[in-house]
Amino acid sequence: MDRRVIAIDGPSGAGKSSVSKRVGKELGFLHVDSGALYRIMTWQCLVRGVDTSNPAAVAACAAAVEVECRPENGAIAYYVGGEPPGDRIRTPEINAHASPVATVKEVRDRITSILRGMTQYGDLVVEGRDITTAVFPDSPARFYLTASAEARAARRQKEEVEKGIANQSAEAVKASLLARDAIDSTRKHAPLRKADGALEIDSTDLTLDQVVETVLNALPDGWR
Ligand code: C5P
Repeated sequence: MDRRVIAIDGPSGAGKSSVSKRVGKELGFLHVDSGALYRIMTWQCLVRGVDTSNPAAVAACAAAVEVECRPENGAIAYYVGGEPPGDRIRTPEINAHASPVATVKEVRDRITSILRGMTQYGDLVVEGRDITTAVFPDSPARFYLTASAEARAARRQKEEVEKGIANQSAEAVKASLLARDAIDSTRKHAPLRKADGALEIDSTDLTLDQVVETVLNALPDGWR
């Protein structure tokens, strides 16, 4: 059976997670956070003492990580060694190492194949950096979500403080975010960019409801 896939890409803090979750809930599509898979690989590299600037070592480590994917409460949940990684993959340290890990082709190939396999569970709304360009480039529902660097940093910082993950200044959060953007958009394999044919939405001055409505209104006939 052909599954429907909504693909949403964009830089950190553009609002992809909030929008994807809401759109998924609205339509009964499973929410898929692809960044969490890159974060899990990064976390496991760090736990195992792997130098994240060494692509061969990162590739070998990522190949050995077993990630179990289960549809749960409207989303695909991940388990490593039988446990959800939780906020262990949301720390500033993981933020700093995730983009270098995500440059490694073997890591990308493995995660791309895990993501494509998720269509077995149902219709999906998948968010990430290369979903519209590389993972599901043929989807008729592709979006590029963006916002100013200031707005993105402010949202991320608020989120980190609310979750009690970190207490960094807005400046520190912005610097970390821009460093990730730079690596993500200049890497050789599947760099972050707006795909031809994807609808670009700048969320800087929009409410969450407005962005969700824009996405829902742009879906192919019969998807709502
Ligand atoms: O979305 P999130 O900030 O959790 O992603 C963490 C990192 O994983 C990104 O900075 C990027 O380097 C990488 N990533 C990617 N491709 C995706 C999703 C995330 O390269 N589809």
